[in-house]
Amino acid sequence: MLQLSKFPFKTLKTVPGWSDNKWTWLLLQAGYIRQELAWAYNYLHYGVKTLEKIKQIVREELNSIWAIEILMSSFSPKESWLKTWRWDSVDVLFKVEWSGNKQYALNPTHEEVVTPLMQEFIQSYKDLDNCQVYQFQTKFRNETRAKSGVLRGREFIMKDLYSFHKNQEELDIYFEKAHGAYNRIFDRLWIWKDTLYTFASGWVFSKYSYEFQTILEIGEDNVYVCEKCWQAHNNEIVEETFKCVECWSNEYKIIKTSETWNIFKLSTKFSNAFGLKYADEKWIQNEIVMWCYGIGISRIMWVIAEKFADEKWLVWPENIAPFSHYLIIIWDNKQKALEFAKKLENEWKEVIIDDRDIWFWQKASDADLLGIPYRIVISDKTIEKWWYEIKARNSDEVKILTF
Ligand SMILES: [Zn+2]
Repeated sequence: MLQLSKFPFKTLKTVPGWSDNKWTWLLLQAGYIRQELAWAYNYLHYGVKTLEKIKQIVREELNSIWAIEILMSSFSPKESWLKTWRWDSVDVLFKVEWSGNKQYALNPTHEEVVTPLMQEFIQSYKDLDNCQVYQFQTKFRNETRAKSGVLRGREFIMKDLYSFHKNQEELDIYFEKAHGAYNRIFDRLWIWKDTLYTFASGWVFSKYSYEFQTILEIGEDNVYVCEKCWQAHNNEIVEETFKCVECWSNEYKIIKTSETWNIFKLSTKFSNAFGLKYADEKWIQNEIVMWCYGIGISRIMWVIAEKFADEKWLVWPENIAPFSHYLIIIWDNKQKALEFAKKLENEWKEVIIDDRDIWFWQKASDADLLGIPYRIVISDKTIEKWWYEIKARNSDEVKILTF
């Protein structure tokens, strides 16, 4: 449990004036984040807890399709990027130099790390029955169009999964499993029905890639949706004239979205660049096909904040909120509140105790600003009758329950 009398961070009374969008200023005002640079953020305690909730949902679903969690370095040597011909072709690559003129990349994606890393463990066909690894990692893009917020930032948190297969057929089977897991993830994050499966350009990987674009009024992308078959297309593949890649219709409408995940067909590009091959039953060396599946973790926090906020403040779904209950103490009932919070924690609830020496309305307004799903009030009057008051964040109804 968290006791606010012992907590260093505070909410702001007024909206901070230094951001250009509502979701960012709500997260700033409520004390989830602080801005370090226009496109880089510090996550305070509530922000970290929320990110962890999102990560845990992703982790559970990826573990269920036999993907194994690892954590790779943010750096990689220039030589690896020269092998894949991407040192000069990736225009967003952050390059850093250390003494002795040695150059490194601050990774925007990890193919140049994961491929040689897995090479040590992949020798024969037996090693490829279940070879999928993923990580949660901070990514860097030297983005010329960097915007404030995390929509087009130079630093952001991604989940990236890499899968290694003997052939296209086995990859297709795993792709369907991953697609199912991703649908479950987006369902549990409450954004599945607002998310469009979108054709996009392959960036530096292939002709097409696939993105999941979540409908969002202030999103950074325009998605072109075919009026006839509802297939969505990213603006990168709609040049001057629109032609649906599925039904060839040229009628479309534009919807504002934010990209929340993508898939790249890496094929044999990276495995061949590093000479990663496997031996089959006859000890003949064969090519390995790879895919990469990404989810923008920090971006999803922003998207959910925006989607669920009411006209005033934050409202989090219960499984994503940093804490489930905000317990307000009136007068000197701290001992009772601590006992009650312990009881709630035994029921797997996560509790903030507001035991600060301030007015009730200040505590109630912070509970609403933070978007905590339930607010509980304990006072002399309620304790006397073994009662407490509980109110859901998205309702005005106050219920009286017994301890
Ligand atoms: Zn169409």
